[in-house]
Amino acid sequence: MVQLRDDIYGLDSAIFMHPTTWVASGHVEGFDDPQIDCKECKQRMRADHVLEEFEIEADKAPIDFINKELDKLKKEEKLKCANCGSKNLTEAKQFSLMIKSNLGSPTDKLSEENVVYLRPETCGGIYLEYKNMMDSVHPKLPFGIAQIGKAFRNEIIARQFVFRTREFEQMEMQYFLHPDEMEEKYDMWREIRLNWYLEYGIPKDKIRWHEHEVLSHYASQAYDIEFDFKCLDGYKEVEGIHARGNWDLSQHSKHSGVDLTYTDDKTNEKFTPHIMETSTGLNRIFLMFIDNAYTEEEVEGETRTVLKLDKRLSPIKIAIFPLLKNKSELVGKAKEVLEMLRKKWMCEFDLSGSIGKRYRRQDEIGTPYCVTVDFDSLEDDSVTVRERDTMNQERVKIEDLQKYFQENLNI
Ligand code: ATP
Repeated sequence: MVQLRDDIYGLDSAIFMHPTTWVASGHVEGFDDPQIDCKECKQRMRADHVLEEFEIEADKAPIDFINKELDKLKKEEKLKCANCGSKNLTEAKQFSLMIKSNLGSPTDKLSEENVVYLRPETCGGIYLEYKNMMDSVHPKLPFGIAQIGKAFRNEIIARQFVFRTREFEQMEMQYFLHPDEMEEKYDMWREIRLNWYLEYGIPKDKIRWHEHEVLSHYASQAYDIEFDFKCLDGYKEVEGIHARGNWDLSQHSKHSGVDLTYTDDKTNEKFTPHIMETSTGLNRIFLMFIDNAYTEEEVEGETRTVLKLDKRLSPIKIAIFPLLKNKSELVGKAKEVLEMLRKKWMCEFDLSGSIGKRYRRQDEIGTPYCVTVDFDSLEDDSVTVRERDTMNQERVKIEDLQKYFQENLNI
């Protein structure tokens, strides 16, 4: 999104920002999820997710709509606690996802004046640094600002592995443009983002678009990319792509008193740029890639567990083993190979257990290549390189290893 493009700038903004930021963006007023509680066992549930099970779309829907739909289900005696089965449930009420704290001296009384919020999404920092970006880099429209960073939400239920956590790593890009370009650029970004998933090995038939039926008042289009999770029994959102109008910059301009308009130097037209956003969660797509790559296969009468990740996504690229741990010549030579390779790639060194066991360990974490230093290596300066998916083995000269991995890993 940044390194390979001319029109997107990377940013690392602050987590603590002036509290008015979140008033301007509408988060203090309405960054809520609807919650219902079981009166018997106190189980907490997200009302929109409960309705989803009855195929009623209620993502970001008004609370009155949600309660009306819940009432209908209650009358039909269909609504039950997910935990104890009781029908004695509260009505839905909004639950703020904002995590609040206070800054200042420890002796200061906690008050609304020194309140600070942990950012619930990274894009707030992008809007705030928009003017700095314009003043320092002077980009021409259309251009984007992207950042990765921690976001915090007081989720009603944080569960399902790392699909939903209260602290997560978000990755967002805001593309600033003239409103006339929105349709074309929106389609372009939908295509780019979908292709990104396909390029890294997500099959076409496990990914789909979900169009939002309920749009925020400022949005003109909103689509999510959904992935069919094996571990979560079905399709779930992994990324949102939203056309947000000029609402964000107008709001920040209004609350800060700073002019955020743009003047086109060819036409002299002055306007507040519109925004197209792509937003995803690193932890969530990490779970998606693991879910997709997880494979159990039969090898010589045994089950081999292997993470068939795209090699670019494997956290460890190469594992290096001396054949025997108590032969210092083998360990020494293997360490030399490790020192040579770890300068360029993430490597692991493992000398415990049989070679077969060491292969299996690396298979489980998706390491694409294992390198074994054996007695022949001491004579011919070659090693055995074993590939994860095919389990093919070949002899490679130690002096050719860097070239070999350059070709096979840096695709
Ligand atoms: P949901 O409906 O699942 O609560 P959302 O529509 O509120 O998500 P956005 O605010 O659009 O999510 O966030 C964009 C992306 O950030 C999501 O597609 C997801 O990948 C990621 N994300 C959001 N909340 C969480 C969370 N609590 N844990 C992990 N990732 C998250």
